[in-house]
Amino acid sequence: MRRRVQGEHGNYMIVYFVKTAPRAMGGRRGALRLVGGRIGLGGQDRGDASISRPVITVCPLRLPLDLPGRSFSLIARNIATHRLSAMKPVSFRYFAPCTVDQALELLATHGGEGKILAGGQSLVPAMNFRLARPASLIDINRIDSLDYVREDEGELRIGALARHARFEGPVAGGALGAFLPRVARHIGHLPIRTRGTFCGSIAHADPASEWCLLAATLDAGFLVVSRRGRRNVRPNEYFVGALTTILEPDELLTEIRLPLLGEDWRTGFAEFSRRAGDFALAMCAAFLRFEDDRIVEARIGIGGATDRPSRIAAAEALLTGSEGAPDIFREAGNIAAETIDPLEDIHASAEYRRDLVRAMVARALDQASAR
Ligand SMILES: Cc1cc2nc3c(=O)[nH]c(=O)nc-3n(C[C@H](O)[C@H](O)[C@H](O)COP(=O)(O)OP(=O)(O)OC[C@H]3O[C@@H](n4cnc5c(N)ncnc54)[C@H](O)[C@@H]3O)c2cc1C
Repeated sequence: MRRRVQGEHGNYMIVYFVKTAPRAMGGRRGALRLVGGRIGLGGQDRGDASISRPVITVCPLRLPLDLPGRSFSLIARNIATHRLSAMKPVSFRYFAPCTVDQALELLATHGGEGKILAGGQSLVPAMNFRLARPASLIDINRIDSLDYVREDEGELRIGALARHARFEGPVAGGALGAFLPRVARHIGHLPIRTRGTFCGSIAHADPASEWCLLAATLDAGFLVVSRRGRRNVRPNEYFVGALTTILEPDELLTEIRLPLLGEDWRTGFAEFSRRAGDFALAMCAAFLRFEDDRIVEARIGIGGATDRPSRIAAAEALLTGSEGAPDIFREAGNIAAETIDPLEDIHASAEYRRDLVRAMVARALDQASAR
């Protein structure tokens, strides 16, 4: 396969190493193999017909032919091994189950030191910075049965593979259906919304997640399954702190259930972030149910400003029974600002976040009353 060629910078050849897919991806093993060479710049590609397994990495090397010492192929293999291991994340085993049962089986075996991969929009950056170092990835993207959004028994049911972008268009009727697209466009940028999933956001539990705020405000149901059984968890039990939930390592969040809101509900959403697409520094979701021009039920949720999304019960009580005038909305904002324990970080001081909450609550309520 190796042939001496006179190139611009002396005699060299280009060889290709491939890393074949591990067994879980349909390959026999994750082996490093020399599969062919292109001789010089104008040479021919030489494939290796025996490589029928999926190839996950290709490493072309341009090597001088007068390499000293041990055999050419041994040196080439050492260089390729080094280059192929120079990935940003630490190396990991990769599994791609096609059914929920297979995923649960893998989680039961590897969940302790492994992670589920959904859209990868939070996990992969964390792995690239080596903040997350899972020994195994269990990629659920091939489990078609988890890819759905449907209305059922007065609820909107959202499967683990429903991407953010899906909610930019209509997925449901009523007030909830009209509300979701207004929120979805605040999540990152289009490529992130195209891959990232609703359930992945809930599992990740970023304090600035719009979906976590929505789920907490509407008291969503979280369907969690493992080989040990299934449970339906509520937000006040589920969210423990920033990026922390009650999910166990062997558990898969398969579905989120949001109550469909009737036409008597009015909704408002206000978010403040420094630039479009940035994570929110503070946001508020407001849901008001009116009867005879009076508020008979109110739900006010705060996100971004605290370590987890929360409802502001005192502000909800203030609004219930009122006609919902601007001065009472300002007062609800004041109550929310005084109730919360704001985060303080490089993006904003606690006092700044408190002020933002004051403004976001009043703004979301203004919006809700106008609809
Ligand atoms: C530049 C940038 C900007 C962003 N801006 C925003 C924003 O403004 N608002 C916002 O909300 N998000 C934002 N995100 C995050 C994005 O929304 C992610 O998609 C989301 O947080 C995670 O969803 P995912 O499907 O990508 O999950 P992954 O990244 O695949 O996984 C995240 C975590 O959840 C776990 N997990 C995923 N799915 C499940 C499941 N079904 N069951 C159990 N565990 C699971 C994974 O193991 C991992 O620990 C941003 C991301 C980037 C890179």
